[in-house]
Amino acid sequence: MIYNFKQLVLAIILHIYEEENSMAFTEDLLLPSRGIIYQLPEFNGIVKVKPFTTKAYKDLLTANASEAGLKQFVDTCLVDCPVKAKNMNQHDFLAVLFKIRAITLGNILRTQTTCPECGHTEDIERDLNDIEVNYLYADNYPISIKLPKSGMDIKVRLATGADVAKAKQEADRRSAIFKKPASEFLTTYTIVSLLDVGNKDIIEKAEWFETLSPQDAIFINGVLTKLTDAFGVKLLHEDKCAACDKIYSSSIDIWGDFFRPDADISLGITSKAGNLAGPIEKPDISE
Ligand SMILES: [Zn+2]
Repeated sequence: MIYNFKQLVLAIILHIYEEENSMAFTEDLLLPSRGIIYQLPEFNGIVKVKPFTTKAYKDLLTANASEAGLKQFVDTCLVDCPVKAKNMNQHDFLAVLFKIRAITLGNILRTQTTCPECGHTEDIERDLNDIEVNYLYADNYPISIKLPKSGMDIKVRLATGADVAKAKQEADRRSAIFKKPASEFLTTYTIVSLLDVGNKDIIEKAEWFETLSPQDAIFINGVLTKLTDAFGVKLLHEDKCAACDKIYSSSIDIWGDFFRPDADISLGITSKAGNLAGPIEKPDISE
């Protein structure tokens, strides 16, 4: 291969860049779903996470805290991951978010809580390493269930990001056709997107679901609730109000300052206000 000088310099820079990237610090994270729900061969649910860069943080701010922006941000921190952030189950996604925050900025999150009873606001520190995670274990996946009334055998899955997106897309489509709010369709579509019923597509499954006896529909709802509770990241935390002693739960705010680096800068300089005659000594009001 013949290089001119410019190409050669570029090739060297690219090489160094790739080298640095491949050696970048990563940490393993076991997803709460342990990867089971993605049904990918040879994926054991362990993902490699690396710290976010200044560029990724800048892009996140530019994206105006949009969900799509946050998912792109997360993708920049996943190394060789077979599941894109937008296709992750929300609990797997949260676990990745916390990991990214912890390995880039540290595991202590300084935040504020407000008591719903008296309005007292308190600065608190939360250790991200202490957040409770429930991991999913399943003998078979998707999970087979028998409907109590019809006796029908169907399979149930847990929601991936792709399922959520698909249900929303179909609800939006139906809403446009029937000129009704999408919310009228969304609940049913969200439920049936998690059910495997023969070879039915999502529309056919929604029609099938509506013809079910209430016993079977309620049973399915119960199964989905149980599955949702079976794994995940515990976002809620109980705090005791220092002002009124009330115990209340608060959640971790991902949007606020979650990814903002703290800078503790001490330069040994101060400034004093004044005018063209020089700095003005303020009288000590305590005297
Ligand atoms: Zn209070």
